[in-house]
Amino acid sequence: MSLPPVPEPFYWTESSWGAALHCRALDPLAANLFTTRQPELSTGEDWRRVCEAVGAERVLTLAQVHGRGVVTIRRGSPLPPSRPEADVAVSDDASLALAVRAADCVPLLLADPATGAVAAVHSGWRGTAAGAARAAVEALAREFGAQPGDLVAAIGPCIGSCCYEVGPDVVDAFAAAGHPRDAIDRWFLAPPPRRAVFPPDTGREARPPTRLDLAGANRDQLILAGVPEGHIYLSGLCTAMHLDVLTSYRAEKERAGRIAGVIRARS
Ligand SMILES: [Zn+2]
Repeated sequence: MSLPPVPEPFYWTESSWGAALHCRALDPLAANLFTTRQPELSTGEDWRRVCEAVGAERVLTLAQVHGRGVVTIRRGSPLPPSRPEADVAVSDDASLALAVRAADCVPLLLADPATGAVAAVHSGWRGTAAGAARAAVEALAREFGAQPGDLVAAIGPCIGSCCYEVGPDVVDAFAAAGHPRDAIDRWFLAPPPRRAVFPPDTGREARPPTRLDLAGANRDQLILAGVPEGHIYLSGLCTAMHLDVLTSYRAEKERAGRIAGVIRARS
């Protein structure tokens, strides 16, 4: 397996259970990684190895529902008896790995140098429209007293705008969620003409396809939430274009596996 080149703030490691991508800028703040096709994350043993790789004793995974709900685990607290329904997890527990799973959606990791608290975010188009990244910044501030201007973020592999054509319903959902027009125009490449241009009965079909820059939209939301642009690192890897290493729901449909973004608070 040849691993695709990544920007300087990222690097690969290879171990018996598979290759993993790490963000060098997060390393001093929090153990972190993004998994690849291997492990399949289908067994407890897979998760045990991932836990071990970030120095954690236990892992929190979520029943992800494409929203902006947050689950908070404080140091020493027990884990919920079943996977909580949420797309954001925040914690200051150094024994705990926070994990989000994704197949094209953005796995996003955040760490606070001042308090040591961390966040893991799952943000596909629905979560991005809902503002999951902002919810994570707000939760770190509210629950642990983090200052958004201190936070460091890594945006892992996700479907790139190169491969992510979406329908007008997706653009409409972002507009309905209240995102400013200039942001929507930036996130959706080849933005559609205004609906009024078309007669009402042919409007939807006549609008040209548009492509969504999920990673860019999440970066922008972090900036709008107060995270400095220079603290946000993008892996730049498109999941659909690296199927030997990554996995893509768009490209593989139901056969697609999942990658995970994993982070642990420092002790
Ligand atoms: Zn692509």
